[in-house]
This record gives sequence, structure tokens and C-alpha cells, in this order.
Amino acid sequence: MTATYDAIVIGGGHNGLVAASYLARAGARTVVLESRHKTGGAATTESPWPDAPEFRVTRLSYVMSLMPPTIINDLKLASHGYKVYPMGPYYQAFPEGGSIKLYADDAQRNYESVGKWSKKDAEAMPAWDAWLAGLADVLGPMLLIAPPNIGSRKPRDLLGTLRLAWRHRGLNVRTIADATRLMTMSIADLLDDWFESSQIKGALSVNGVIGTWAGPYEPGTAYVMAHHSIGDIGDGHLGNWGFQEGGMGAVADAIAAAARSFGVEIRVNSKVGRVLVENGRAIGVAMENGDELRAGTIVSTLHPRTAFLDHVGEKNLPADFAKDIRTWKTRSGVVKINLALSELPNFTADPGTELAEHHTGSVEMAPSMEFTERAFLDAREGKPAVRPFSDGVIPTAFDKTLCPEGTHIMSLFSQWVPSDWNLEPHTSELEAYADRMIELYDEVAPNFKASILHRDVVGPYQMEQEYGLIGGNIFHGELSLEQLFHMRPAPGYADYRTPISGLYYGSSATHAGGGVCGIPGWQAARAALADRKVTRSGRSPRAAG
Ligand SMILES: Cc1cc2nc3c(=O)[nH]c(=O)nc-3n(C[C@H](O)[C@H](O)[C@H](O)COP(=O)(O)OP(=O)(O)OC[C@H]3O[C@@H](n4cnc5c(N)ncnc54)[C@H](O)[C@@H]3O)c2cc1C
Repeated sequence: MTATYDAIVIGGGHNGLVAASYLARAGARTVVLESRHKTGGAATTESPWPDAPEFRVTRLSYVMSLMPPTIINDLKLASHGYKVYPMGPYYQAFPEGGSIKLYADDAQRNYESVGKWSKKDAEAMPAWDAWLAGLADVLGPMLLIAPPNIGSRKPRDLLGTLRLAWRHRGLNVRTIADATRLMTMSIADLLDDWFESSQIKGALSVNGVIGTWAGPYEPGTAYVMAHHSIGDIGDGHLGNWGFQEGGMGAVADAIAAAARSFGVEIRVNSKVGRVLVENGRAIGVAMENGDELRAGTIVSTLHPRTAFLDHVGEKNLPADFAKDIRTWKTRSGVVKINLALSELPNFTADPGTELAEHHTGSVEMAPSMEFTERAFLDAREGKPAVRPFSDGVIPTAFDKTLCPEGTHIMSLFSQWVPSDWNLEPHTSELEAYADRMIELYDEVAPNFKASILHRDVVGPYQMEQEYGLIGGNIFHGELSLEQLFHMRPAPGYADYRTPISGLYYGSSATHAGGGVCGIPGWQAARAALADRKVTRSGRSPRAAG
């Protein structure tokens, strides 16, 4: 069977759905092909316990932040169910006693909270916040630009490089120095320059290692912290981190509803096997069931190894590009533990099982940078962390749609297990790892273990096999310095185009990914639509290669 469309989008994760929405909105007859039984990819709400279907968890990704207002408004996502509750404070209860809360936008309360541990650090907080805000003002808007192919002498790329330089003409020596530090330092070294207390440094270092195959003492982790801390990308102020009502699957559902409203056809249980390439041009796709679909524009939003090495094939790709994708770093050693709880954690430091402010934000297990570093070193030495760190959240502090009244869902985003655990299920070791993680929370909230009604442990193997996250990396590829901006996913191809004309690329492995932000899908659609415009006006789009 062969069907013909204007545009085919491979992958029904949130980026695929965003790309399809923009293509269809511009008039292209568009189909999304998704291999799973449902859309959403890593933005998914599921009921993992067959005997307790009334509990739903946001199984992989768990909080929203970087989706730009342009996408939310263009796709009218609020009218399709996009509704985000801002998170409460960062909270850490310490095994040795006491706790800390950090607020996203309340300097006075931060002063009081931090002052309990160090007066000097409390005094330093406003300057730190201002320093970070200044850097975010520079870095944030960069998330919305298509990186120029630096080094290329093609007119469009030269123009892009000049535009980038012009955009940053206002930067001074000091700002450049600060940005350089941020890009090259470890989060631990950076925080050591600013703060003295291990509690504050532990708290502020978490964002530097989320989803990263690197402990807080590894160079580059300062940037990862900034990536997760940017609050404004020059497109209107973004909300603080927040919980989508109905879990992250509801974000994908809202985008899918928007896509359908523009006329997109969404096919689930539709696994693509190959991109059909003729004379260096993509002309369609072959499905695993043998069907073929044809279109002049194809957007892939899969992991780069799948999109290029499996679907296009090395023989159709320039050798340099194929090598860049083959050597793409895609580890993270993440384990997601989803729990149904009969009651809220009762912290010794802040007693009570009634809903309180400290239940409403991130409920961390990262008491110091040394603790987090040890967890990484264990995994790098080839064993699962003895004492894993966790970025925990309890979305049901706000969202009453996920479980029966009186009960709660808690999601623990934890690290690390060895980077090769994507190759084998490691089921019993993952269960033992989850036991240890739960013990750590039980040490600071002694009702915790007993309150667990159900648990679901998702490790790198399942992430790869079930969700297509090769290597178990949560962003389709590490956010390490050599894989950012003009290098993401490969030098020469950071503008959402690929070596194959007619084939565009908009997964989290491109600039502004990862995360549930939709920017890669939006940019890939924009690149495809721009080329169509150029083609219609009689000039040719960028030559392949
Ligand atoms: C455990 C975990 C926690 C995370 N936490 C957060 C968070 O809190 N906040 C945040 O912003 N981000 C988070 N992320 C990252 C974020 O979820 C991802 O970066 C993002 O969802 C990826 O979106 P995507 O559309 O690019 O790709 P995906 O969501 O991976 O979508 C790709 C789609 O393609 C489909 N597919 C695969 N192969 C084929 C094929 N051959 N044919 C057809 N379809 C195919 C897949 O089934 C999938 O639906 C997390 C990720 C994980 C795994």
C-alpha cells in the first residue's frame, strides 16, 4: 500500500506533534507515525499497575518548564487542556537533622532558610540569583535561535554567524568571562566559589546533574544547571517549573488535540522501518509492516542513531556525519521510580502528614555534593549507586486527577546505575536499587516505606526498548559541551536540516532539546516550511551535504 502526503512526521513524541501541528497549520497534509500504542513518547501518563488502574503516574518526564509562550499560544494549548501548577519550594530534609527550603522567587524567605545554615551564604544568595539571571538573559534567548553552521562558507550560514555576532554585540569582557566559566566549570567548583555550607551547595548542585552522565565535580555541569534554571528565553517569562494537570501525558495530549484541529492524521502502532532515499532526497518511508508512504517533506523526531543510522543508513550519509552520529554520547544511568502512597511523607524535620508547603515542590535526596558525587562514582566504577540521589516530586499536592482522594503519587527521578544497563534488564538489581532509594527517604521521613501501596521501577533498558531512548539517555543525547548548540546533533547540521534533502530533524537531540519544550519540533517545521517557500519562489533549498 502506498499513501501520499505533503509531510510525514516520524515519531509521535511531543516534538513530533509540535512539528506536525505547525506543518498542518501552514496547509501541509500531514501524518504522524508513532510506533507505540499511544503518542507522547517520554511525556506520558500511564497506569503501570494492572490491579490498581485508578493510580496514574507521569512515568518518565515529570515537570514542565521550557515550553515557550509562542508554541503554547500558536497551538492554543490551554484550550486543549494544557494547565500547569507552579511548583512549591525545593526541599531537602537532612539525615543528620534539619531541613532547607529554597524558593524560586522569594528572596526574603530564602534569606531566612539559608541563614539557618550559614549567614554568609544567606548574604551571598541575592548576588548569586542576580548573576544567574544575568547569564540567563544571555543564554535564554539563544534557545530560540537555529544555530548557524559555524565554519560553513555558504551564504546562509555566514549570514547566520554574523547575525549571532550582532546579537551579542552588547556583551562585555565580564559577561563573556562569566559565560565561559559557566560553560567550562563543574557545578561543584562554581558553587565552592560562592558558598560555604554543604547544605546550600548540595541543594544548588542538583540541577547540574539531572539526566547527566557526570557527577557535580565534572566540568560542564555548571552549564547543565543553567540550562535547567533559565526562566526566560526571550519570548515572555516562562513559568517556574510546574506540574501539568493529568501528568506529562496531558501535555502531549493537548498538542495532539491541537495537531488534529489543524487536520493532522495521527497513526499509532505504526512503526517506521526505513526512510526511502532516492538520489540524495527523501521521498517517503517504509513501515515495518511493509506499507509505504510518500511525501516531499519528512521530519524525524527519533533518537539520532535510529533516525539516521537505522532509518537512512550509513551508505546514504556523508562519512563524517555518520561517524558523528555513531559516536554520539547517549548515556545517563537514570532510574525512574514511581510510587503510589497511602499518605504523605512525614518528615522528622517538618512533622505531619497533612499537605504542607514542603510537599509541593521538589522533595530531594541530595544532601551534599559529596553524596551526589559518590552516587556517580559508584556507577562509573560499574555498580549501581549504593546511596542514589533523587529529584523527587509529589504532583498530587496539586493535581487531584491522578489517584483516589487521600492517596498520593510520588515520582523519584534517581541516578545513577552503570551506563551499560541499557543492554540488559537488570530487573532484580533495579528492585534492590529502588529499595535503597526508598530507605534513604525513610531515614528522614520514617512513615515513608510503610506508606507505599505500589511501585514501578523504570531503568535504562526499558527506556530504550519501550520508549526508544537509546542508551537510556533522557534527552536523546547528553547535554555535554561537545554536543551543544552548533554541535547538536552534529557539526554542519544544527539548523534542523540533514544531509538528505527533504529530511528534517526535530528531536531532543537538536539545539534547545532536551526537555519537554517543543522547540526542536517547532524549528524543524520552520526549516521545512522555509525551504518550501524558497522552492515555490523558484530558488532551490540548501543542497544536501
Ligand atoms: C525519566 C525521564 C525524566 C525526564 N524528566 C523530564 C522533566 O521532568 N522535564 C522535562 O522537560 N523533560 C524531562 N525529560 C526529557 C524529556 O521527556 C524528553 O527530552 C522529551 O520528552 C523527548 O521528546 P521528543 O519528542 O524529542 O522524543 P520522544 O518523546 O522520545 O518521542 C519519540 C517518539 O518516537 C517513537 N518512535 C520510536 N521509534 C519509532 C519508529 N521506528 N517509528 C515510529 N515511531 C517511533 C517513540 O515511541 C516516541 O513516542 C525526561 C525524560 C526521561 C526519560
